[in-house]
Amino acid sequence: MALIVQKYGGTSMGSLERIENVCNRVASYIRQGHQVVVAVSAMSGETNRLLDLAKGINAKGSKREFDQILATGEQVSIGLLALALEKAGLRARSYTGPQIAIKTDDAFGKARIQSIDTEKLLADCRAGIVPVVAGFQGIAPDGSTATLGRGGSDTTAVALASALKADECQIYTDVDGVYTTDPRVEPKARRLEKITFEEMLELASLGSKVLQIRSVEFAGKYKVPLRVLSSFKDGDGTLITLEEHMNLEDPLISGIAFSRDEAQITVTDVPDRPGIAAAILGPVGDANIEVDMIVQNIGADGATDFTFTVNRGDYERALEITRGVASELNARAVSGAADMAKVSLVGVGMRNHAGVASQMFKALAAAGINIRMVSTSEIKISVVVDEMYLELAVRTLHKAFGLENPPAAA
Ligand code: ADP
Ligand code: ASP
Ligand code: MG
Repeated sequence: MALIVQKYGGTSMGSLERIENVCNRVASYIRQGHQVVVAVSAMSGETNRLLDLAKGINAKGSKREFDQILATGEQVSIGLLALALEKAGLRARSYTGPQIAIKTDDAFGKARIQSIDTEKLLADCRAGIVPVVAGFQGIAPDGSTATLGRGGSDTTAVALASALKADECQIYTDVDGVYTTDPRVEPKARRLEKITFEEMLELASLGSKVLQIRSVEFAGKYKVPLRVLSSFKDGDGTLITLEEHMNLEDPLISGIAFSRDEAQITVTDVPDRPGIAAAILGPVGDANIEVDMIVQNIGADGATDFTFTVNRGDYERALEITRGVASELNARAVSGAADMAKVSLVGVGMRNHAGVASQMFKALAAAGINIRMVSTSEIKISVVVDEMYLELAVRTLHKAFGLENPPAAA
């Protein structure tokens, strides 16, 4: 008998029929003698609908009130799933985040879980009751409902699994595991049997939204066994593991991540002296705008070009701030482009191999794709390209690194 936390995402909970499908899956685990704690998302599209309602009234309203509204999507889901479980002859009880004291900080809209009271949940499990917990929410120190950021139900599930010392945390979604890249962009993408936490964290941070970044961070830190599976078909899914595959024959690249909403800003001809980077990026940071890649290039005449990327949603504001700073610095010009995308290769195998970057650049060049910026770390290489080339870049690299081929038998 095992204690399992199962999380069902928005698509899996998207209709009454799908909720009954989730119910059948939970019931089959219970009937095999396992204890199951379920965490669920709002029905697909619901959180966006609620967000539009809130924005329609007062887009600049307080984050606390936004959270009050957004958290209701999950409240409907837990009730519906508990009713379905009851109909199937099981005992079930639904809980909102505040009802089981999922305590968070007060960063409304991106709150972090601080503790979970497991007493009620464990008592339910012992009594043969299936607890159905609302994902994406908790209770802030002042008693308000707080949400955990988009995709946050994954983090609820991992935090529950960690607090309950569950044997496994299963994330059920609309794909049957983690793929070499998003199968919606490259149909030849291949499911990975396993992936390391480190790689999964990079993939999630670089745009693969199959798992929320924080859930992977949390699972890695507290060593929660994590698996991504499909709620629509049976299979082993993908296990996220601590194990490092460090054999020289192992694949260089485990996966390709991408993000569409990048924007680039360039300041040309700024004086080459200490403090310039701080002068440009300081005010951008002060405006709470996150800067991702940064490239500074000194020309033969000693003048510097300074380029950085921000999220597309922050582009207009970042451009305005940069223009202000640039005129104070006597820079020649500020230019920008909002239609950029980032494509990243991720793999722990890169540690043992040189030449991944040049192979990447050659493949992109052969496809006629211009690289705007590059950034690297030990286990990833990212390039910024024009957004119109995003899909082509992903497919080109997927082929160039042989990701569609099953790994050679050991
Ligand atoms: P849920 O609503 O269940 O949380 P999400 O939409 O958040 O589901 O995550 C699942 C989606 O993630 C898939 O439909 C897929 O398009 C996307 N995705 C992006 N990158 C990958 C990847 N590397 N492997 C699998 N799915 C991916
Ligand atoms: N319903 C929330 C969202 O759409 C949380 C989640 O699905 O994980 O972001
Ligand atoms: Mg998700």
